Amino acid sequence: MTILKDKTDIDALDIETQKKTAELKAIDLKNTSNLPRPNQQEAEEAVRTLIRWAGDDPAREGLLETPKRVVKAYKEFFKGYTENAEEILSRTFNDVGGYDDMVMLRGIEMHSHCEHHMVPFIGKVHIAYMPNEKVVGLSKLARIVDTFARRLQTQETMTAQIASAIDAGLNTKGSAVMIEAVHQCMSMRGVQKSDVATITTRFTGIFKDDRDYRDRFMRLAGNE
Ligand SMILES: [Zn+2]
Repeated sequence: MTILKDKTDIDALDIETQKKTAELKAIDLKNTSNLPRPNQQEAEEAVRTLIRWAGDDPAREGLLETPKRVVKAYKEFFKGYTENAEEILSRTFNDVGGYDDMVMLRGIEMHSHCEHHMVPFIGKVHIAYMPNEKVVGLSKLARIVDTFARRLQTQETMTAQIASAIDAGLNTKGSAVMIEAVHQCMSMRGVQKSDVATITTRFTGIFKDDRDYRDRFMRLAGNE
């Protein structure tokens, strides 16, 4: 489900297309490439090209170190390509002490970059899952968000990937993921609407089949 929480009509948004792409890619948890990576120098040269494209001079004093900084920042922005969700979720605990309800993490901070414009979209992720016999450390769930957020993404794909990774890694009875985010490609360019939050959800298993669980999740997520 995709809802646009806004005051205006935004027809420029191609949400339906994005949603379909997301569904196609939902099972692919890697979205990495086997292409050879450019070396540091080549990457810095590419940044200089973009600076010239923007209309400035890469040899100007204030910009001299910029390519180096940008390339370094990219390592951090996109470190998700070097992380493996399966591995992160592999250390689980079997002793849940009779606990038999859903586990929920609300308001996990999320910073990502949209794959269409390579500009940030920033927001919050709410995750719940129904344990089967295994649970995982709560910090691991937050790391899963980073693993997928620190890549070139669509919000729809990321929502599906987080749910799929948790289901696969923990063999859950179902999971629920909700992301609310503001896309800078919408606030800084194109339709220039800065107050619009895009909300995406993904429900699997018990959350998909049982309305009560879904409602509880939505209520808890909305109370943030
Ligand atoms: Zn975009």
